[in-house]
Amino acid sequence: MNLETIQAAENKLLLNTYQRNPYLFVSGQGVHLRDANGHDFLDLLSGIGVCALGYGHPAVERAIVEQSKKIIHTSNLFFHEHTAELALRLTEISGLDRVFFTNSGTEAWEAALKLARAHAGKLRAEGRTIGTKFLALEHGFHGRTMGSVATTAKEKYREPFQPVMPGVEFVAFNDVADLRAKFSSGSGTDFCAICIEPVQGEGGIHPVSQEFFAAARALCDSTGALLLADEIQSGLGRTGKWFAYQHYNIQPDVTTLAKPVANGIPMGAMLCTNAAAEAITPGMHGTTFGGNPLACAVAIAVIDTIKREDLLTHNREVGDFFQAELKKLAARHDCIVEVRGLGLMLGVELNSADLAQRVSAQMMERRIIINRTSETVLRFLPPFLLERQHVDTAISALDDIFSAALAGAAPAGDQTHG
Ligand SMILES: *Cc1c(COP(=O)(O)O)cnc(C)c1O
Repeated sequence: MNLETIQAAENKLLLNTYQRNPYLFVSGQGVHLRDANGHDFLDLLSGIGVCALGYGHPAVERAIVEQSKKIIHTSNLFFHEHTAELALRLTEISGLDRVFFTNSGTEAWEAALKLARAHAGKLRAEGRTIGTKFLALEHGFHGRTMGSVATTAKEKYREPFQPVMPGVEFVAFNDVADLRAKFSSGSGTDFCAICIEPVQGEGGIHPVSQEFFAAARALCDSTGALLLADEIQSGLGRTGKWFAYQHYNIQPDVTTLAKPVANGIPMGAMLCTNAAAEAITPGMHGTTFGGNPLACAVAIAVIDTIKREDLLTHNREVGDFFQAELKKLAARHDCIVEVRGLGLMLGVELNSADLAQRVSAQMMERRIIINRTSETVLRFLPPFLLERQHVDTAISALDDIFSAALAGAAPAGDQTHG
């Protein structure tokens, strides 16, 4: 089927959830995707931060082929070879103690929310005073299931599905005074957790401030509430450290991973301290597919490749270079309001949503994949294999587009994902 036939069929057959861009990709190699016409695209989005090792990586291919010949699924009623191996790697790199495997980001976040409730319940049973409410951040994003939506502030994600889970309050981003006031409102011990994305992704690539993150840690310590760090977009090396919270030297009680963990084989994980984990006993939580042998084998290959090829250093270096080049562009073009990010998680805020839409559409026409998030922000989440020459290609294309009259190019629809 060609693109037009597929578009017509999908329009009729699929739930109308996505405004896809009109491109049909059939294969990929390294940092490039190839469309059905044989054209190669430089991919600076990697499937929304998923394909960290790009396309056709031999370590990923080998893990998929070898594991799929052996066994793909056993259920969590039995042991398999790779769960412990992967959990050991994840606990080593995170500084946390225990892992629960899921199939997606939102499921990892749901596990974190349930753990926070169970942990508070355990504290209450021990005679401590702690409530059941969650404190989350404005412009945060935690996924599409009911608990995730309830902790996501943006109205467009919540409003159609009301009533969402009650007992969630929102703090203005990086506003320490608001954080302290909300956390100590009511009885002063109402909250079982504070929810933070150390670098907000869908919200427009906003790193949380050191002061704010430290204040959240201290507030949690003062009552026994858990500090939940959602690293589904920022985690596993993208920012130049395994976890973005490591840039701050702040240890959360719980973190969540997903997007890049198994390079596109669906997988997520919730990691926590031993103290938090004590609240969970057999039967309280679970999943049928989560942590299956195939996903675990691939995740092990991804982590070992990041280590072997020292991609943390690479992401920091190429990310710093990319950010510096974007800042030079900002100095030349007034329409760029701000350049933000950490490592290979970068955002360029423009002075208009319409412009951001046209720029991302024109980049696609030049066969460079980026997207727009939070209306006005161009987002870059490239594979960890990105080299300086690819950055140069992207910068010169952006320079041309900003310099030109920005005419033509029909808007491609809001590409904001979530
Ligand atoms: C993508 C994302 C999610 C949701 O992950 P899904 O796999 O789409 O459910 C949650 N939190 C953050 C920070 C994300 O970027």
